[in-house]
Amino acid sequence: MQFEVGNSYNNFKLLMENEIKEIKGVCRLFFHEKSGARLLYIQSDDDNKVFSISFRTPPTDSTGLPHILEHSVLCGSRKFPSKDPFVELAKGSLNTFLNAMTFSDKTMYPIASRNDKDFVNLMDVYLDAVFYPNIYKKKEILMQEGWHYEIDNVEDELKYKGVVYNEMKGAFSSPEQILFRKIQETLFPDTPYRHDSGGDPEDIPELTYDQFKDYHKQYYHPSNSYIHLYGDGNILEHLKFIDEEYLNNFKKVEPNTTIPLQAPFDKQQEVVVEYPISTNEKEDDKTFLSLNFAVSQSTNPELHLAFDILNNILLGSPAAPLKKALLESGLGKDVFGSFDYTVLQPVFSVVSKNTNLEEKTRFNEIVFDTLKNLVKNGIDKKLIEASINAYEFRLREADYGRYPKGLIYAMKSMESWLHDADPTMHLSYEDSLVTIKTALTTDYFERIIEEYLIKNLHRSLLIVKPKKGMAAEIEEAVKNQLKAFKDSLSEEQLKELIKQGEELRSFQDQPNSQEELEAIPLLELKDIDREPEKIELIEKDEQGIKVLHHPDFTNEIVYMNLLFDTSHIEKELIPYMSLLTYVLGKVSTDKFNYEELSNEVNIYTGGIYFNNEAYSKKDNDEVFYPKFTLKSASLVKHLPKLIDLSREIIGNTLFTEDKRLKEIIQEVKSRLESVILNEGHVVAAKRATSYFSPLGYYQEISNGITFYQFLADLENDFDSKKEDIKENLAKVKNLIFNRNNLLVSVTVEDKDYNEFKETFKVLLSDLKETNLEKADLGFKPAPLNEGLLTSSKIQYVAKAYNFRELGFEYKGHLQVLKTIVSLDYLWKKVRVSGGAYGAMAGFSRNGNMYFASYRDPNLKETLQVYDDMKNYISEFKADTREMTKYIIGTISKIDAPLSPSSKGDRATAYYISGMTYEDLKNERNEILETKEADIQNLAKLVEKLMQENNYCVLGNENKIKQNENLFNNMIDIFN
Ligand SMILES: [Zn+2]
Repeated sequence: MQFEVGNSYNNFKLLMENEIKEIKGVCRLFFHEKSGARLLYIQSDDDNKVFSISFRTPPTDSTGLPHILEHSVLCGSRKFPSKDPFVELAKGSLNTFLNAMTFSDKTMYPIASRNDKDFVNLMDVYLDAVFYPNIYKKKEILMQEGWHYEIDNVEDELKYKGVVYNEMKGAFSSPEQILFRKIQETLFPDTPYRHDSGGDPEDIPELTYDQFKDYHKQYYHPSNSYIHLYGDGNILEHLKFIDEEYLNNFKKVEPNTTIPLQAPFDKQQEVVVEYPISTNEKEDDKTFLSLNFAVSQSTNPELHLAFDILNNILLGSPAAPLKKALLESGLGKDVFGSFDYTVLQPVFSVVSKNTNLEEKTRFNEIVFDTLKNLVKNGIDKKLIEASINAYEFRLREADYGRYPKGLIYAMKSMESWLHDADPTMHLSYEDSLVTIKTALTTDYFERIIEEYLIKNLHRSLLIVKPKKGMAAEIEEAVKNQLKAFKDSLSEEQLKELIKQGEELRSFQDQPNSQEELEAIPLLELKDIDREPEKIELIEKDEQGIKVLHHPDFTNEIVYMNLLFDTSHIEKELIPYMSLLTYVLGKVSTDKFNYEELSNEVNIYTGGIYFNNEAYSKKDNDEVFYPKFTLKSASLVKHLPKLIDLSREIIGNTLFTEDKRLKEIIQEVKSRLESVILNEGHVVAAKRATSYFSPLGYYQEISNGITFYQFLADLENDFDSKKEDIKENLAKVKNLIFNRNNLLVSVTVEDKDYNEFKETFKVLLSDLKETNLEKADLGFKPAPLNEGLLTSSKIQYVAKAYNFRELGFEYKGHLQVLKTIVSLDYLWKKVRVSGGAYGAMAGFSRNGNMYFASYRDPNLKETLQVYDDMKNYISEFKADTREMTKYIIGTISKIDAPLSPSSKGDRATAYYISGMTYEDLKNERNEILETKEADIQNLAKLVEKLMQENNYCVLGNENKIKQNENLFNNMIDIFN
């Protein structure tokens, strides 16, 4: 079908059409004249279709209004009046993406699906949600999602509760998050960017119901909206649907939401912010120092690309001069840069982590001295080439993990579109790259540094420093504030609050009616493929080495993984092996110093990384296969270089640079700290699994809290331990790389396999052949039930066990149970009523299972919720429609689209654990055939699992100490 600019299609006037080969799509920009809505349709042959509607939502304060609204509009609407259509879609649609996101200036509502019917259903629910939400009729939605007073009896203490309130308490527990939330406040003091759109827990309770409704009225209008469509769908049908069902009902208005520019500063600003640490923690080395620059405007695509690359040049690799200068001067244990281009005036930041307030002047000096030196003496051209190539590789690969491509393009287009500029300017990059590549022979980047960093006074020095006991102080202050408020109330007013709480609870407890549930569109089981997707895996033998070939269209890229079995590595050496994954490629070798090595890798490859993972036998967690893996990618034409570099790293790495080694240990430790604070649910579940599972135990010592403590020990005592460290790294490296324990996995097109095979031979010639014997880990199960203390304001509560140990077998029904309990039982009990941000469940084929909560204000109540689950399951009722919904939701998780490299990884993992296509087929059948009774029959399994009482809680030290009797042991992890 031909489109003509100027013509109207279903009331959408076509304003612009251009083909963008970088994203393999044709972009058409439409304007809906009646309602004032803008719409960008990117037509491509990608079947993973994306729809998104966004609104310009600059915050007017820090009550988190845009964020609370984002949650609330998904709690029921005109056509879909059930309390949680969002959850209903998560339970029962084939979505490949379903979420909503609040940025500092916009709110986006994206969905994706590969199924046409499902796609339109999802679009319908989302459009109805944003334009006709039930928030006007139900005050309870704001109370539940935002905040409310909680009190049951007149004599009780008054408390704040609410989903976003707790979510943000969690966010404000992490110093890194505090830092990034505050940067904008320092640079844009006169614009909406000074406010926190997510909500500061101190301000959230100031939000009123009227403000909330008014904001929706003004900002959620088509004239203030930006609609994206992407993929191989039917354009005219989609336009017709959106016009007739929604936009046609609105008249164009002037929304007045334009975001003003911040006037530049005449001098650098300095701001100090505090964050809480626990009473036992030391304050030394826990400060963040950051320099932040406002860089031009988001409507300058070439500069944007250039800054992304410059960030990598200055701070991204071991060869990066600014990172090196800061690390070498001992200023911080981790140094990184960031370039935030989601705001009108993009922000470039240099951050030094784990340092001290007294260092701020030196930090400032070193940053500017280094930048000035680079301008004066020029940046190493090899480094520039390496950084451009690494960036270009990622652009061409376009692998965005679980994010559909179309969503990434929608997000990129918003950077300019939100500020009334061409929405496609950031989607094409070839021309910009050509200009940027002139940097190889000119002073392109040096000029950028001079103009946008050195001479730029629109900048801030933001310091985030620790304060002992601050969490308790805040708690106390909130308590007093609430007490004062309570004292000011008459008994009547108090009773009114209690009544409101009761109304909220009855709103939450009242099940959706049949009619409400059936309003949500649902596919039928016959719309679902009976057969699981087949991932091709061809077993080959190359000179006695097993090679798993996954033929796939990879756009001239080869993905090569070398997996070395490490069952023979002694327990004491396992943490060194984990450390080695971070050291290889980051220190010097015989031929290259570490900066040269980093440049070579970035010039010729898409990266060479290492990890150590353990794969369990499919049905037994006591039999597992630990692997030390070299993961890599390159263009097929650069295969010889990839092999050469891999050989150099595996064979000739030197462990002689004490200083470098110490830097690496500090950096890894510092990054693990962030993981512990931000992904505590994973950490706690892993720890709880290590009490009973040999596999879990192995994973804990290699990558869990035990590994973190190992690093902390090495760091504290580096000088006396350094000879041991170097010796052990060399020893373990020697033990790992061997022909006899090697398995190769390669993802490349058939036509290029021979090229691989020939080049790969060279690598084998270096490897020795020794016989290896399995080591004994000496694992003894013990329910340690630990409380892991942090300064966090919330908890992560995990309970885990192995159902095979208790005599149960794996069935596909367990995956349906997972969908049911995560999205119904746990969602309602832990999130909606408990006020946690989330809760999850997992059942592995090997028998290991867990329940975990995320950013949870509770502790023992959550453990009780897990224990009570058996009743919910035994009384579980679902008619055919309801069952179909859970089955479809389960299948959608299993069928999530994968990139070629992830497909290769999955096929290899199946191969190692002994999973066959038959197994997948049986599992799928069991899922598709699941009946109400199958779920009810799992009550016994869950009951017995919970009776084992195997748990671990990570979080607020006071909360854990208050529940002391629950724990066998309490550990101050950061001490
Ligand atoms: Zn949220």
